[in-house]
Amino acid sequence: MKSIWHSTQLLSPYPSLPGSIRTEAAVIGGGLAGILTAYYLTRSGIQTTILEARRIGSGQTSGTTAKITAQHNLIYQKLITCFGEGDARMYASANQQAIKEYSRLIHSHSIDCDFREASACLYTRSAGDSLQQEYKAASRLGIPARLSTDTELPFPVRNALYFPHQAQFHPLKFLKAITKGLTIYENTPVLSVKGHQIHTSLGDVTARHIIFACHYPFLLWPGLYFARMYQSRSYCLSLAGIPSLQDMYLGIDPGGLSFRSAGNRLLLGGCSHRTGIIPDNPYQRLQNFVHKYYPTAKTVSHWSAQDCMPLDQVPYIGPFSFLEPDWYVITGFGKWGMTTSMVAAQLISRKICKKPVPWESVFTPRRIKLKASWKEAITHLSESSRGLALGLIHPDRRCSHMGCRLKWNPHECTWECPCHGSRFSHQGKLLSGPAQTSVSIPSK
Ligand SMILES: Cc1cc2nc3c(=O)[nH]c(=O)nc-3n(C[C@H](O)[C@H](O)[C@H](O)COP(=O)(O)OP(=O)(O)OC[C@H]3O[C@@H](n4cnc5c(N)ncnc54)[C@H](O)[C@@H]3O)c2cc1C
Repeated sequence: MKSIWHSTQLLSPYPSLPGSIRTEAAVIGGGLAGILTAYYLTRSGIQTTILEARRIGSGQTSGTTAKITAQHNLIYQKLITCFGEGDARMYASANQQAIKEYSRLIHSHSIDCDFREASACLYTRSAGDSLQQEYKAASRLGIPARLSTDTELPFPVRNALYFPHQAQFHPLKFLKAITKGLTIYENTPVLSVKGHQIHTSLGDVTARHIIFACHYPFLLWPGLYFARMYQSRSYCLSLAGIPSLQDMYLGIDPGGLSFRSAGNRLLLGGCSHRTGIIPDNPYQRLQNFVHKYYPTAKTVSHWSAQDCMPLDQVPYIGPFSFLEPDWYVITGFGKWGMTTSMVAAQLISRKICKKPVPWESVFTPRRIKLKASWKEAITHLSESSRGLALGLIHPDRRCSHMGCRLKWNPHECTWECPCHGSRFSHQGKLLSGPAQTSVSIPSK
């Protein structure tokens, strides 16, 4: 089913690549990250071309809950411990600046995208001091924050951590406004990249700078991004008949839910899982919650989406690999890509324009943070090895990316790869990467 954003905003179509061309910068992927990057590059006078495999805004950006916030679940305590206070401060300031830049851009261009200020709030229903620790970490880094037990939620909480002056918007209304004047080719999947040559079935693009903003980089080498990220899927309901919430909420306990209002709808999200490791009845579990706490609510639509989860929790934004100095990557948003797409767009465009880049070190893809990532790395290695081994034993239903055995998700009627999160329709048609080609599914 279409997300609330898709059903309330159509984006104009763009042509496909007309044949081989030259451009100063090429952005692969027309989601929020790619379009914002192209926007800032174009404004800096760099001739930029966006190559989009399908339609712009049709990827994970259309399935988001679109909170614009520097509150990224529990992160600041971990960043201070594993990255150091300097990098943690940089992460906070990059994201806080990004919220201000959204506000400046939207107000200065009078963009009608339902943007409004709201507080972001993490809540817990359990005992434990995680939120106190996060509050202390945030305060130490200069993030305005407060603890409370008052929320607008329909159940009592043990504690709630508020970051004021965050925001929310309609991502596709925003995209519609900022794509005006950009050079965009849709239905133009990039098949391979070598040096400054981008190969598509419609022609080749020669570019001085190449930015991979295609959600999950499809190349195995260089970069080895497949070894550094997995994907996680979440489910959303749009509900009518509930009074609007002023603020935006996320539960930190296992099974915690996400809440925000969009006009007269409440967006309820949750039931996250590693893509390809399928849980029981995610939509039904969300519905059970609605029946219990919002008995008069009506479900208007439902959808799901997924994002790339870096093992150390910080996105990869910067040079793709030391082997390819003119390639850049934007990936691994960990379900916080609204704010960090803005961080990425500013970082990459400043880097290409040879301007000082204030937050480079925390996001650099060259980092290795074992303390922050070793637990997730063990899980990723074991899930990937299992998926690969099963793919070798049962050669039917293998993912076209690396050959892992696909799992059936009955809630979405899709085949999913538990290793790297590629998805295919019930007939094997590619829905999202890193795989680049469809698979053949033998009939039962
Ligand atoms: C359920 C859910 C809720 C979320 N809520 C929030 C939130 O409240 N706040 C927040 O900050 N973040 C949130 N996120 C995260 C956020 O939505 C994502 O991080 C963000 O949308 C990613 O944008 P993107 O541009 O990287 O990817 P996409 O939007 O997926 O764009 C990538 C584009 O690249 C294209 N592409 C792929 N391969 C190729 C190729 N070979 N050639 C050409 N094009 C290609 C795709 O077609 C796609 O259009 C949420 C994520 C989920 C899953």
